[in-house]
Amino acid sequence: ETPLLEVKNLTKHFPIRGGLRNREQARVYAVDGVSFSVHAGETLGIVGESGCGKSTTGKAILRLEDPTSGQILLKGNDITHISRREMHPYRQQMQVIFQDPYASLNQRLRAGEIVGEPLGNYGNLTPTERREKVADLFARVGLRQDAMHRFPYEFSGGQRQRLGIARALALNPEIIIADEPVSALDVSVQAQVVNLMMDLQEELGLSYLFIAHDLAIVQHISHRIGVMYLGKLVEITDKQSLFRSPQHPYTEALLESVPIPDPRKRKARKVLKGDVPSPLKPPKGCNFNTRCPFAVDRCFKEEPELREVAPGHMAACHLR
Ligand code: SF4
Ligand code: MG
Repeated sequence: ETPLLEVKNLTKHFPIRGGLRNREQARVYAVDGVSFSVHAGETLGIVGESGCGKSTTGKAILRLEDPTSGQILLKGNDITHISRREMHPYRQQMQVIFQDPYASLNQRLRAGEIVGEPLGNYGNLTPTERREKVADLFARVGLRQDAMHRFPYEFSGGQRQRLGIARALALNPEIIIADEPVSALDVSVQAQVVNLMMDLQEELGLSYLFIAHDLAIVQHISHRIGVMYLGKLVEITDKQSLFRSPQHPYTEALLESVPIPDPRKRKARKVLKGDVPSPLKPPKGCNFNTRCPFAVDRCFKEEPELREVAPGHMAACHLR
């Protein structure tokens, strides 16, 4: 079965302005050979610290960034380098939710216009059909009908994200790329928005690529989880396997920072030491070797491949 979304060996390098090193253009390897797929009705969580390349991956999939190399396939169609015009029909199938709904919503439009705006660019609904569609979208995301006449600044953070979700749903997409959609919200509101997204998935058969910086946020919603570190995918598997038997030391460290309810167990945990190295100068060998408690000689010489270490469980570590 063809995956809904397939990312193959995706790379995004940014040249650094004025950055010449040994006469060669210096580059940031923001995304460095990432491959994964998302199936219909599935949520793939992508987790990693800020700067690991997860947002750039999302933007490349949405064609907001041009990939340096690799392939992006939507239902088997290669959309990696197609033009804006050729992208038009695919935009409908693939929508986005951003971290900061306030910045991503047009402040001068009323909520009803914001949600209905994508409908103007696609299809040919009559004004009445359009009003009905917008009313339906407001109901779906749990916003009151009279909220249609208000402006974004009159909404709370959680309501604004509901607005962003309603707008993303306007064109009946099949997949939504959600880039830290709840990271800016209060913890109590986060759960409400995640639950809403899960309900919508069940009702509409949606797929999500859910990007977040910590495992706690993606834990509930994801079917599978990929962990990124310095532009690379270091582990990917189903949620249960990842939480039960993480294979990469970085994933283990991330798991240790997931809040656990039992305070007696808390003291046994280690915390990840040190900062993420600059993507300008990624370490040679395994890119996690500067922070890894298990690093051996080989880790400084040879880069570990992402490979299957247990059925359906991929990890990039020499010790597995
Ligand atoms: Fe640690 Fe070596 Fe495994 Fe990298 S390859 S995660 S440095 S043990
Ligand atoms: Mg980001």
